[in-house]
Amino acid sequence: MPVPVPTPAATAAREILTRLHDVMAGRTHAQAKLNNVVQIIGEALTSEVCSIYLLRDGVLELYATRGLSQAAVHVTKLALGEGLVGTIAKFVETLNLDEAESHPEFAYKPETGEELYHSFAGVPIVRRERAVGVLCVQHAAARRYDDVEIEALQTVAMVLAELIAAAGLIDEGLGAGSGARDTGPAQLAGLKLVDGMARGHAVFHQPRVVIEHSIAEDIEAERQRVYSAFRQMREQIDRMMSQSEFGTAGEHRDVLETYKMFAYDEGWSRRINDAISSGLTAEAAIERVQQRTRMRMREIDDPLLRDRMHDLEDLANRLLRIVSGQLGTAAQMGLRQDSILIARNLGPAELLEYDRRRLKGVVLEEGSLTAHVTIVARAMGVPVLGRTRDVRHTVAEGDLLLLDATQQHLVARPTAPMEEAFEAKLAVTQKRRAEFAALRDLPAMTTDGVRIQLMVNAGLRDDAAQLDVTGADGIGLFRTEFQFLVSATLPQREHQQRLYRDVIEAAGDRPVIFRTVDIGGDKALPYMKIEGASGEENPAMGWRALRLALGRDALMKAQARALLEAAAGRTLHVMFPMVSEPWEYEDAHTLFEEQRAWLQGRGKMGPGAVRYGAMLEVPALAEVLDQLLPQLDFLSIGTNDLTQFLFAADRGNPRLAERYDWLSPAILRFLSRVVTACQTAGVPVGVCGEMGGRPLEAMALLGLGIDRLSITPAAVGPIKAMIRSLDVGAVRAAMPAWLAEGPRNLRQRMEAWAGEHAVALL
Ligand code: PEP
Ligand code: MG
Repeated sequence: MPVPVPTPAATAAREILTRLHDVMAGRTHAQAKLNNVVQIIGEALTSEVCSIYLLRDGVLELYATRGLSQAAVHVTKLALGEGLVGTIAKFVETLNLDEAESHPEFAYKPETGEELYHSFAGVPIVRRERAVGVLCVQHAAARRYDDVEIEALQTVAMVLAELIAAAGLIDEGLGAGSGARDTGPAQLAGLKLVDGMARGHAVFHQPRVVIEHSIAEDIEAERQRVYSAFRQMREQIDRMMSQSEFGTAGEHRDVLETYKMFAYDEGWSRRINDAISSGLTAEAAIERVQQRTRMRMREIDDPLLRDRMHDLEDLANRLLRIVSGQLGTAAQMGLRQDSILIARNLGPAELLEYDRRRLKGVVLEEGSLTAHVTIVARAMGVPVLGRTRDVRHTVAEGDLLLLDATQQHLVARPTAPMEEAFEAKLAVTQKRRAEFAALRDLPAMTTDGVRIQLMVNAGLRDDAAQLDVTGADGIGLFRTEFQFLVSATLPQREHQQRLYRDVIEAAGDRPVIFRTVDIGGDKALPYMKIEGASGEENPAMGWRALRLALGRDALMKAQARALLEAAAGRTLHVMFPMVSEPWEYEDAHTLFEEQRAWLQGRGKMGPGAVRYGAMLEVPALAEVLDQLLPQLDFLSIGTNDLTQFLFAADRGNPRLAERYDWLSPAILRFLSRVVTACQTAGVPVGVCGEMGGRPLEAMALLGLGIDRLSITPAAVGPIKAMIRSLDVGAVRAAMPAWLAEGPRNLRQRMEAWAGEHAVALL
């Protein structure tokens, strides 16, 4: 790594740090040191005012100031969230204002005499990811501080964190936002990322790295320490990638490739080097860059990009541990039996380091459904609860935990009755699972002899294994965009083809219905700039799916060729998402047929046959089925999108999640008309939305005449049990009256009917 030329920010910070170094090394009392610090910073930034507030007993107290009234020291106090200082501490964020008073949170403190000053810049003093104080500067003139000055303040704040911790000026562990750790039972809510239940003891992924020294004695020596740590880290990653477990192609591989890309990212090492040039130790420089990354991360709205940033954090932690010699993660120290891992977030590679026989569950403070770590955990079969706020503060190492990701909650230090209830539920779940497993090889046949096609929804290479696990009849919806979502760059055609071929091969003679990419809108790809798609107000109704694919026909052509070649010699099933008018289907169909002819012209082997389908997700399409159906081999109803459009109710809005019922007359009448149109036209029709994975809803769908469902693999057991207990002729006979009457309590009516007819609704 070349030695970088220090940036202006590094130079500014270094000047201050050099002077601070002497203050820190001095034998004076902490208060005297702080008094010196505010003078040094104030002079360096030519600020009339420089103040330090520290968090004591939950309030921010003015501890030292240059420029404000000395009488206010230890007198002026602000609650967290109060005033500008309180806001900085509460949200752990930087403020830079040319007119302090105009900020909505401004709170005037007359004893300080601060009315003379217009501009204000403040940064949080952070320890263990929590604000323990605030460092701020003020100017009489109204001016914004430039980036160089803000950077210098942030760097100084890091050093201050060390000083005040060493002097015992703050209560360790009592940073902003933390609560006293309880010893009684605690219940925490989270978000289900990977389904399942687990009982185990809390293990913290990372015993924290505490930075002891932040000002460098010898900058060159610090630089060498970082070089060597980078080398070691890269070796570790390379080793990990060459392990046979990750050697095979697949999602894990793609994820790790991204990880590796970050490890070798020159921009990152340059920023760390730059922080060292400003006078920080290697540890402090890594932490400083990480803090900046976190700050940026908070501003980013794009969940996918945020997930990538977590990978970078994961690596930064690894680097910090190497450089500080505080090496062990819980994985390296060896897990005890039945462990539940606790972390703010995890990188995919970090998770893979754990012994999966001992790891029973994972609880994250962050995490999201599309994060790499979630994908890896799903493949490992480990339940994961995400977005569990404050778990690291509520739970202590070794606590007994009851994790119920399915119900989206966690109990720590349970009482005996809580434990009994959990065990009972676990036993029922296990028994039920065993019962469902016993149905695996039995047909999805109703009591009156109608064979229902029961398929699974999938999206990743490993999902194909679910066919054997569940005994499903095929993959009724393969969401091809998943591969695009987990990659760092647009997947090349060869990679797409390999995935499709692997899935087709794993499925054997069971059909796989590939849906062409449904990207755009809320499934934006950070690496793909789509004109007209950014900042859409209603992304679900925006430039997505087939609309986007037809507009970017190079993308669609590449996917068509990948699919056609992958299905060489076999039947390819392909369907298009979000078809809104017949011409969109026609154009997509033409594009595929042109690619097929192109392959043939070059003597390449294409599929033996292609069966084309459309998804019905946009209500308008239902009005023109007479024109569309004659062109189709099959229709698949995507009830997730369809119902959100029918009710004008965002499917991702939790407040609307329970408001409208899938079993409402509006939806069922609509579906009934579609089914009838398909039956009249002789076109097979199925449902591939989540609705089909719920027993009562599935019963209603069969009652409408549907005989193909594609559902999430975990639902195959319960749905098959329902089918095998159902007289579908009877429910079909009952349906017209229900639809005609359209009662408000249709769900209860159907439930009662199911009860009377002994339909298994588990
Ligand atoms: C649907 O909308 O019902 C569907 C199956 O597609 P997705 O959930 O992928 O939007
Ligand atoms: Mg959809």
